[in-house]
Amino acid sequence: MKTGDTVLHKPTGEHWTIAWAERGRVCPVGWPETLAEDSDCELLQEGTEAERMKLLHDMANIPAPSRGRGYDSRRTYARRVLGLAEPPAAQAAKEKPRADDPIVRHNFRCPKCGERYSTLVLQSWIARLPDICHECAQAEKEN
Ligand SMILES: [Zn+2]
Repeated sequence: MKTGDTVLHKPTGEHWTIAWAERGRVCPVGWPETLAEDSDCELLQEGTEAERMKLLHDMANIPAPSRGRGYDSRRTYARRVLGLAEPPAAQAAKEKPRADDPIVRHNFRCPKCGERYSTLVLQSWIARLPDICHECAQAEKEN
């Protein structure tokens, strides 16, 4: 499994486009960022090389973290694979996922709109996930 492939995530029955697959972990595209064991995913369709490259470039352009939050593993992965530099704020997030970093459920409520979200992430990610939801972050950027 690799970037751009379509998989069935067996526990949820959802079809995912893979953003990255590494060290037994699979991260799909979309928001909120989530994660699964690769053994829970079944390959449905391999992406083409052109699709993989387009997706990597889209992921590399996910906004950079600010003030240590807003880290997105898809951006970090794509920039590592494409050999692009990261601003200093994102350097700390550059390591590959560690096998002993457990996947945990993360529930949060956006303080701006009150929407509740639940997602699966690596335990080490929680401190650097965005503190507001994707929609509120987009709205903030436009103002
Ligand atoms: Zn919100």
